[in-house]
Amino acid sequence: MRRRGSKCASTLPTPREAANGGDCEENNKKRPPRLDKYEDLPEYLKDNEFIRDYYRCEWPLKDVLCSVFSLHNETLNIWTHLVGFLIFAWLTVVSLTEEMTMENFMARLFRILRNGESEIRIWRNGYIKFLFYFSEKLHFSKSPLLIASEDSSSNIPLWPWFVFLGGAMVCLIFSTTSHLFSCHSRRFYYFFWRLDYAGISLMIVGSFFAPIYYTFLDHPYWRFLYLSSITLIGILVVTTLLAPSLSSGDYRGFRAALFLCMGFSGVIPAAHGVLLHWDHPHIIGSLGYEIAMGTLYGLGAVFYVTRIPERWRPGAFDIVGHSHQIFHVFVVAAALTHCAATLIIMEWRKGFHHV
Ligand SMILES: [Zn+2]
Repeated sequence: MRRRGSKCASTLPTPREAANGGDCEENNKKRPPRLDKYEDLPEYLKDNEFIRDYYRCEWPLKDVLCSVFSLHNETLNIWTHLVGFLIFAWLTVVSLTEEMTMENFMARLFRILRNGESEIRIWRNGYIKFLFYFSEKLHFSKSPLLIASEDSSSNIPLWPWFVFLGGAMVCLIFSTTSHLFSCHSRRFYYFFWRLDYAGISLMIVGSFFAPIYYTFLDHPYWRFLYLSSITLIGILVVTTLLAPSLSSGDYRGFRAALFLCMGFSGVIPAAHGVLLHWDHPHIIGSLGYEIAMGTLYGLGAVFYVTRIPERWRPGAFDIVGHSHQIFHVFVVAAALTHCAATLIIMEWRKGFHHV
């Protein structure tokens, strides 16, 4: 066994079985390495001292990959964002195959939560429709990404909406892979966490595109100013976070503050948009969802920074219920709330484009 070799290999999937161990020599070839305690970790993997056990440490890549389906202290971190990624992939397929409105977004979201099986069937049918659609569109009659207002005043460009969906998918899949692979080696650790920060920045920048684009549809100067500013801020944040030293636990608060500042800089275009269009109820409705989104991100950041609840009972939340899992759930919920906010503005623009 290639691990630091203090104890024998053990059986997955359950971490307790792993901790109990078995017949070392026979099992070493077949079974993945054992899970480690916090104090046995190398310095670079010591991120949260309140999570005491069930660490994968410098596992071979094959075992790391298989650990998606076993229990350890990163399992739910991986799955919370993998499920989030699948939800956004599904939203993208639906948006490409039919008109996405607030009404069918909500209806479908609740249906998928209630009745997964029928939704998977709809997804499969949607995927087939999507393939047909694209083979048809190869003739370039009218791309869904660049719908022009040729024959209908209700059509608006959809690319900003897809920029947001794309940014969310990239962020969630980068996060999933970071939580999965960063335990493999020091090199992987620094590479994947920086990838994760780049993904978060991309999602924040992408989130700005659709609401700003549609709110300032008739104000190209402001639209350009806000979109180029947030893109520039995003590039600066990613460049700053490329420094490996900023990936350590000591800078947890700094990273959270940087992302929150980036997100909350949206208050400026939001306030401007409300001032411009205060008489349109859609803008006020959308603002309500954006405030809810900000609250959800803020709450998530509180868990991320304070490491509640595991700091209250170290070791009790190693597998289920620690702060990072709660933070992930808040991130997905906030991104979905932003979806709702954006769809409201898009609906308004579909109705009022020429007003
Ligand atoms: Zn994470």
